[in-house]
Amino acid sequence: MDRSENMRRIRSRDTAPEIQVRKVAHRLGFRFRLHRRDLPGKPDLVFPGRKKIIFVHGCFWHKHSCREGRVPSSNSSYWAPKLARNVERDTAVLQALDSLGWSTLVIWECELRNEVVLADKIQAFLSGAPAEHP
Ligand SMILES: [Zn+2]
Repeated sequence: MDRSENMRRIRSRDTAPEIQVRKVAHRLGFRFRLHRRDLPGKPDLVFPGRKKIIFVHGCFWHKHSCREGRVPSSNSSYWAPKLARNVERDTAVLQALDSLGWSTLVIWECELRNEVVLADKIQAFLSGAPAEHP
């Protein structure tokens, strides 16, 4: 990856993954609302009729188990507690939504590379069928 490509990726990190998931869900024909403030965690995509919610999580900020989710070795005394708090908050939000009767799906940034698998996963979750790619 060259430098300019790297810069582009950094700049678009906050929103690009979410936009990609929205596009896929939309193409599959699902209707949704964005960032409903009346729900715990202000979920990224809300499907009110199905009582389903999709979060799009950046692997670094939400500490995914993949390579991108590792705590940086430099300055780790700063990052470790900060990232751990994010994970605690995520867990609390998912539990709160569950107790309100919402089903949730977390899509990780690294899962966006294969859009066919991504579409299958979203379709399976929203249609209630068992996921083919858990
Ligand atoms: Zn990941």
